[in-house]
Amino acid sequence: AYLENIKRDEEDLNVFITLTDEIALEKAKELDEKREKGEELGKMAGMVVTLKDNIAMKDVRMTCASKMLADFVSPYDAVVTAKLKAADAIIIGKVNLDEFAMGSSTKTSYFGTTKNPVDRTRVSGGSSGGSAAAVAANFCSISLGTDTGGSVRQPASFCGVVGMKPSHGSISRYGVSSMANTFDQVGVLAHTVDDVEYVLEILEGSDLRDATCIGNDSLNAEAVKAAKPLSQLKVAIPDTFKTFEVEEPVRDAFQRTVDFMRDQGAEVEYVHIASLDLAIAVYHILVNGEIAPNMSRFDGILYGFIADDYDNIDELYIKTRSEGFGDEVKRRIMIGSYIMSMDHSKEYFEQSLEMRHCMMSEFNEVFETHDVILCPTSPTVALPIDKNMTPVQIYMLDLFTVPVNLIGTGGISVPASTKDGLPVGIQIIPKKSHDNQAIATAKELE
Ligand code: GLN
Repeated sequence: AYLENIKRDEEDLNVFITLTDEIALEKAKELDEKREKGEELGKMAGMVVTLKDNIAMKDVRMTCASKMLADFVSPYDAVVTAKLKAADAIIIGKVNLDEFAMGSSTKTSYFGTTKNPVDRTRVSGGSSGGSAAAVAANFCSISLGTDTGGSVRQPASFCGVVGMKPSHGSISRYGVSSMANTFDQVGVLAHTVDDVEYVLEILEGSDLRDATCIGNDSLNAEAVKAAKPLSQLKVAIPDTFKTFEVEEPVRDAFQRTVDFMRDQGAEVEYVHIASLDLAIAVYHILVNGEIAPNMSRFDGILYGFIADDYDNIDELYIKTRSEGFGDEVKRRIMIGSYIMSMDHSKEYFEQSLEMRHCMMSEFNEVFETHDVILCPTSPTVALPIDKNMTPVQIYMLDLFTVPVNLIGTGGISVPASTKDGLPVGIQIIPKKSHDNQAIATAKELE
């Protein structure tokens, strides 16, 4: 059934970078045989899954949506891919993203933009736009994405699906291309909060190959059941979101959610988090500082694309990287290298690190008296594909998602009820490692 949908809509939507239909059909057949024989099946048997194309799957191409890796075939499975396979999931393909996950629309992908299945004149969001579109278009029931500054939650919001980035350190990133290590986390997109919860429980777990991955005990059904119901919930809304320019449909959907929560007995109040004013600046300084060294491995020698014509090693590096990377990646490498250089690291990087700690303390203070923080996932609905914006204008729209990655907590985006028209996502942010509370609350808002 999913393949039928793909046959009908893929050409126009441009969701897949690599379709693994043969592998999927083979797996489905194997599961059928097992079932007929009465053998036990894995927890995800029959669930059709897509992977963002920065997550490795053995013997399948992994491009990161870049010319640099357009022909790169992964020699091994990421830990998450191995877990999906072990649970008998059917992996149907690798889907589009912004180049190396840098962007908010898939427009920086070397393989073109993924259209939003809800309104094909609009973007699907990013960077996990292919993942959100794949779920929304019924090309799969589950998709894995990655979230460094909102890349799971924002496209989920744009496409009207559920997307969750769990607390940093919940899921192993071994086999996932690094963007900014202290921010990156694998997340799950699906039609329902139940599905997201179910898959996160399977993926969670510590891993020695990702030294920061400690697992997350709150990602299980028992813990979710034990979380507070809306009637007992104390909810904080940062007042920055009152003054920030938010599109009318988003403002309206958000207000309805707040009204609904209050009706159910939740206490909802505004709080002031001063450091939020600097969130975008701090995010871009720290993220680019991590991006630049991460991208240095793409040199034409270790793997991937290599320029044709060069006279010496310097020229090989320069030509390969000039031709292999797109503009957004180059912009971030240049900013990151500048910021991390001897003369500037004190001025930018170290101050931003301090700000990150301030932000953590400020959020923790809020969590002492409140169970969750609530805000829209994005200030806009899905943007028109042909809308032209400067990089900084695009970055500013991440204000509601990047704080979660800066403080290392989880965040879930769940579709709000809207008057009509385009989807709007509402974001629930729990205290770090209390992801069960965000899931439980999301279920009541669904
Ligand atoms: N849009 C954000 C950025 O461009 C987030 C990207 C991400 O989460 N991978 O940095």
